[in-house]
Amino acid sequence: MKVLAATTNQGKIREISAILARAGISIVSPDELGLTLDVIEDGKTFEENAIKKAAAFRDASGMSALADDSGLCVNALGGAPGVYSARYAGDQARDQDNIDLLLRRMAGIQDRGARFVCVAVLALTDGRIITARGEFEGLLLDTPRGTGGFGYDPIFLDPLTGKTFAELSSEEKNRMSHRHRALEALREAWLKVRGEG
Ligand code: IMP
Repeated sequence: MKVLAATTNQGKIREISAILARAGISIVSPDELGLTLDVIEDGKTFEENAIKKAAAFRDASGMSALADDSGLCVNALGGAPGVYSARYAGDQARDQDNIDLLLRRMAGIQDRGARFVCVAVLALTDGRIITARGEFEGLLLDTPRGTGGFGYDPIFLDPLTGKTFAELSSEEKNRMSHRHRALEALREAWLKVRGEG
């Protein structure tokens, strides 16, 4: 089956393609169809945003479409920044602005527990919606470490390796990340829907 990826991020497209190839799904990028679509992510949950994106790309293309939505949820902040992760410090915020604001809000707080969450959604042409969630638990540092990755990676510590996500190689991160886990779960869910799980 051919599925349209509801993203133009080439790194994400490569990761999605590698995981879903093992479920007989081949990924098409919006560029290949000459499709440009700007979906406003105004949902209150990762699920709402991912469903909105996947359904919009499906409706615009007539193909089944796959979207993801992700963010960082901090225990001591009641799950914030959550769906607002990309624009925590404002609509034009850069990664560093978001990190600075988060570290200010976390100043003096002992509970450093946080998790990255990713929800992946497949919107099928027959109207069915398949959703899957992946999470990765870690700890927030109070000073950034490492130069890789993006977003909150430099302050997010993986307790098992003792490295931040910005200190891992992209291969190491992609093997265990919340996004990887959501895509693996989506692949399982899809195989079940097809009656092969
Ligand atoms: P999106 O779902 O790719 O739009 O990501 C939303 C925001 O969540 C990003 O802009 C980052 O701030 C944050 N985020 C999501 N995944 C990661 C990650 O793997 N590392 C660091 N930050 C992330």
